[in-house]
Amino acid sequence: MSSASIVSGAATIVRRSARNVVRVASTSAKVEVNHHEENSKSDIHKNESGRAKKKLKVSAESTTLANNTSQPEHIAYTTTVEETSTTKTRKKTARTKEIPLPSPCAYPPRPTNEWKIGAHISAAGGVENAILNASTVRANAFALFLKSQRKWTSPPLKDTSIALFKDRMKEFGYESRHVIPHGSYLINLGNPDSDKRAKSYECFLDDLKRCEQLGLTLYNFHPGSTVGQCTTQESIKHIATCLNEAHRATHSVITVLENMAGAGNIIGSKLSELRDIIDLVEDKTRVGVCIDTCHVFAAGYAIRSEAGWEAMLQEFDEMIGLKYLLAMHINDSKTPLGSKKDRHENIGLGNIGIQAFKRIVTDQRTRDIPLILETPGFEKVDVWTKEIEVLNRISAAELQVRHRDKDQRQQKQEDEDELNELDDVPLLGGGSEEEELRRYADEIKRAVEQSQKGAKGSGKLASGGMKRKRKDDDEEEECDHSDEE
Ligand SMILES: [Zn+2]
Ligand SMILES: [Zn+2]
Repeated sequence: MSSASIVSGAATIVRRSARNVVRVASTSAKVEVNHHEENSKSDIHKNESGRAKKKLKVSAESTTLANNTSQPEHIAYTTTVEETSTTKTRKKTARTKEIPLPSPCAYPPRPTNEWKIGAHISAAGGVENAILNASTVRANAFALFLKSQRKWTSPPLKDTSIALFKDRMKEFGYESRHVIPHGSYLINLGNPDSDKRAKSYECFLDDLKRCEQLGLTLYNFHPGSTVGQCTTQESIKHIATCLNEAHRATHSVITVLENMAGAGNIIGSKLSELRDIIDLVEDKTRVGVCIDTCHVFAAGYAIRSEAGWEAMLQEFDEMIGLKYLLAMHINDSKTPLGSKKDRHENIGLGNIGIQAFKRIVTDQRTRDIPLILETPGFEKVDVWTKEIEVLNRISAAELQVRHRDKDQRQQKQEDEDELNELDDVPLLGGGSEEEELRRYADEIKRAVEQSQKGAKGSGKLASGGMKRKRKDDDEEEECDHSDEE
């Protein structure tokens, strides 16, 4: 826990070690500052000009983000600075605040890998925090909610959040095509009730506008449900009509349909249903697909085996076209093939198995798209950190084997260049492939057990994590990635 010392309520907030600052014009008497730094020392200095006649009340919350002995320790805290007038009310004037950007140097380095492995990360406290949280777990891609996923309306994004988000994207080296916000769970564009559908559409459009405000290009959502009140094809038409309207009302964001597990009246468990929606979308450049491994397995696609994975992708290519595959949710499944149940499990600990994930993190068709974990995290970062590390190691190890097998000289040179980029990924050695993969799965299992026990020193995200909750208005139990507000 750091102590933030406030000397004055003057307009400029400076941090000694800040390499970068973002200037935010503010007329408000309240400013929220989020900053991270390596050694938990933060000083908010007095402005030199210091004509302050106001006292500041400071409340700070601190949460340890990562606590892996091999990494530096990081402290994340939110400091709320409130001005309390103790003298005459002064006329508030527009002024400039300098908010320090946390340095990426204070975070563990992320693995270099063309397979962009990440997680659905908390954006509690502001969307800009998602970037810090993604860095904490060494994610090269991430998903987030842009507002409360269980409320119809939310306050607009703050200008400070937008500015910080954009700055941090650059500073931390994330590209928008590797970031995929997840839509609100309330949205059902397939609802035959026109009033309810209109309400969903407003919420959906608001999300798309948020993406564009943040400079994000992808947005992932659940297609919808007939709610038992119309045919699948009617529902599909409603979804496509909403998409066409939303595309006209926005500029560039790509709406990415997620495949579903297949319970009840939910649309999207069959690839043919996703194709039918896309067929009705007028601007095909504004639509894509995100394949969730748990959902596709629960829907009956046997991706556990190589033959099953190939068959699913072949069907995808023939029916939809691989160019539409813009993201994946990589989750193992607690329930068996074809169960139609949406129960995510940690990688390698479920019915899909780690071998299937090895295939995914080395398949050319899934390269350079966000591969997002939505696995149980027990509100700690340790599990996602471990899953991301293991998947990157498996990916690197497999690529090394493939490169070794090639014998053309020129090819070898190219490979060496590429391998050098993967040097920072530690590899497990020895044993058969099966044994090696089992060891990887065991590593994840241990991380899960420790987190479940609430082991001392397990890192925790700034706020929230992933939880599951039964959806009231539908038969399917949905995965939920709650960001507590
Ligand atoms: Zn989803
Ligand atoms: Zn799910």
